[in-house]
Amino acid sequence: MKNKRGGFTPQENLISILPSVMAGLIVFSTIIVANLVYFLPQEPLYRVILIIYGVSGSLYLSFYYFIYTAALNKSRFSWVNAVIAAIALCSMAYFFSAKIDHLLYTLVLIAALSSSLISTRGPAYFLVVSVTSFYFLIRSNQRIMEYEWVIHLGLSIAALMGVETIQQLKNMATRQINRLETINELSRQIVSTLDTKQVFALLNATFQSALEADSYYIGILDGDFIKLELLYDDGEYFHDLRLSKKGTLSNWVITHQQELFLPDMRKGIQLDGVEVINIGKDKPTLSWMGIPMHGAHVDGIMAISSYRPNAFDRSDMELLSTIAQRAALALDNTYHHALVQQQARLDSLTKVYNHGYFIQTLHEQAQICKTQNQPLSLIMLDIDFFKQYNDTFGHPIGDEILVSLCVIIRSHIKSTDSIGRWGGEEFAIALPNTDGHQAALVAQRIRETLGSLKIRNSEQFTIPIPTISMGLAMFPLETNDTTKLIDLADKRLYTAKERGRDQIEPALAFWKK
Ligand code: GH3
Ligand code: MG
Ligand code: MG
Repeated sequence: MKNKRGGFTPQENLISILPSVMAGLIVFSTIIVANLVYFLPQEPLYRVILIIYGVSGSLYLSFYYFIYTAALNKSRFSWVNAVIAAIALCSMAYFFSAKIDHLLYTLVLIAALSSSLISTRGPAYFLVVSVTSFYFLIRSNQRIMEYEWVIHLGLSIAALMGVETIQQLKNMATRQINRLETINELSRQIVSTLDTKQVFALLNATFQSALEADSYYIGILDGDFIKLELLYDDGEYFHDLRLSKKGTLSNWVITHQQELFLPDMRKGIQLDGVEVINIGKDKPTLSWMGIPMHGAHVDGIMAISSYRPNAFDRSDMELLSTIAQRAALALDNTYHHALVQQQARLDSLTKVYNHGYFIQTLHEQAQICKTQNQPLSLIMLDIDFFKQYNDTFGHPIGDEILVSLCVIIRSHIKSTDSIGRWGGEEFAIALPNTDGHQAALVAQRIRETLGSLKIRNSEQFTIPIPTISMGLAMFPLETNDTTKLIDLADKRLYTAKERGRDQIEPALAFWKK
């Protein structure tokens, strides 16, 4: 786990050690009482010292809760506590009768376990090792039965094993807590995100903090391809990658809508028609895990991999599944949002920009052209006698003409150019990086293509095509103000109408000059 923000709070630690503190208190008092009653010489001074020792030790254990709570630096406190316990246990071994060594050792065990519960293994190891060494040192010249040595050594080993087990369990629990926090954090942020890029950024942050993968990727199905929206491999990000989906592990996961866990890829893969390919760096992946990502508008995969075999386990799978579910939901949201936004910008009949969005785009494109010292041309286009046309051939045919006209316009302009429906049968075309002469050529081609259009009515009779008139203006040559540019193109359109329609104003010859 790279992320260390989770783990247990001091309060949680305290609750976990409460039973061992109680047990410690009982064993400690028993040792003191046993010594008072049975073993110690009857000299009053010794008895008084022992009573003081017993009372202060019991008080320390009784108020352990408050002492621990008050300690500012919990890690330093654990060490101080271990040193105090070691001194107390060593002095008890030194002064007290060897007959209660077993009780003493039970106390060592309890102290080591509780120390491991509230802290790392360090203080607990220090406690066990120092007390055991001291014990063997002072008892070595006393007559102690062999089996007693074995019992004490066994208790020391048991204490160390207990310490290790607690550390392992704590690590697992901390990992789990951190993962839940990561998921919560991701869920909280991802629901309020309506930007696709932001969703991938959040997912990347989650992968970085919650998973120990050498590489990971998110692939979104795009026809016969898988678009890698996020690819991280061995410290490096790769952008704008698309791969053919055929025969890939990813495609297997997406088509089967099933998780796939390959703990050791050296053992080969028994999947029909699947061949392992390297994406990212040219290093062989040894563990791989892929989860399908399925939503109403997205189909994809989320995969993690490692250069080590057996790098992942079931908990990684669960985590990844949860992330994939959240991601699919979030991507659906952003997709839907983008769709609604897109629709709000488009004219419902012709699917070109509506009036408002066209003006906004024209301003933006003009700004870009200005900074790049490039021209921009604007064409205003109006269908001639369209009212009459509608009256003659019917509104549905009129609609068909409008749609076809926009298809024709689009076929003659670049994808970076824009078309807007200015009004009923009037359109505007913005052509960045295009001068008047080039724009006049485009206008001419639109006129010609429309003229050659063939449409039939429901009775299969060929219907004549209306003509169009166009007005052209050029930015910044004629004006460096987009509002004036629109006015100028509109005036020229009016001129074209007045001159008899079916023409471009100014004509190509004007722009040649
Ligand atoms: P001019 O050559 O002067 O432009 O004559 P015009 O008849 O085209 O001009 P006018 O502005 O008087 O009429 C525009 C007509 O466009 C009116 C309306 O019937 C038609 N129109 C506007 N929007 C639509 C539409 O969405 N569908 C159809 N079929 N016709 C439309
Ligand atoms: Mg008209
Ligand atoms: Mg009109």
